[in-house]
Amino acid sequence: MRSACAWFKLVPPKPRRKGWRRNRAGAADVGGAVARLVLSGMSALWRPAYVAVGSNLDHPGARVAEAFERMAVLAGSRLEVRSRLYRSEPMGPQNQPQFVNAAAGLLTQLTARALLDALLEVERVMGRRRQERWGPRIIDLDLIWLVGEPIDEPGLTVPHPAVSQRNFVLYPLADIAPMLVIPGRGRVVDLMNLAGGAGLSALA
Ligand code: AMP
Repeated sequence: MRSACAWFKLVPPKPRRKGWRRNRAGAADVGGAVARLVLSGMSALWRPAYVAVGSNLDHPGARVAEAFERMAVLAGSRLEVRSRLYRSEPMGPQNQPQFVNAAAGLLTQLTARALLDALLEVERVMGRRRQERWGPRIIDLDLIWLVGEPIDEPGLTVPHPAVSQRNFVLYPLADIAPMLVIPGRGRVVDLMNLAGGAGLSALA
């Protein structure tokens, strides 16, 4: 009779998948893997997230396109859809150029906090400096909504508090997710119709 040891030599064990540990009974350590994902700001679940994009400095259309490209390579996220570009009048101080606005639809494994941190990092890499409130900006990325629970913490509020007052957010968002219901606000297409299109025009 062939010994267990000889059989083992004939049929070597399958290489383990990286990141999966087995306990003594041979069961995969799924809990440990999930805990590590959560600690790294990720979950196993892919969730839709919506990001408003705006720029009014240094060729704003090109900066919005660059922001899309940078979002497309974020770790743990996929850029699924992008809206048309819109031109809008500035909020607040009027002595600044018009804005170009758009919206992005992502699928992400990141938590809202990790996704916002990644978006703020894109802003930083693109040269965003925080100066005057509502002042000119090379790029502005706002996390409008990440499907899940609303969050209101220091430095992180989703849904974004100003979403229903800003037609330059709602029109692009309606291009990519008209039927999306934003908790506590309503359906994007209804919010867009309520806001109206004053000062906004779609670019070809
Ligand atoms: P802003 O000047 O409009 O780009 O605001 C950016 C600041 O707002 C950052 O310090 C964020 O931490 C904070 N913030 C809170 N919630 C959000 C959100 N949903 N999207 C973007 N920024 C947020």
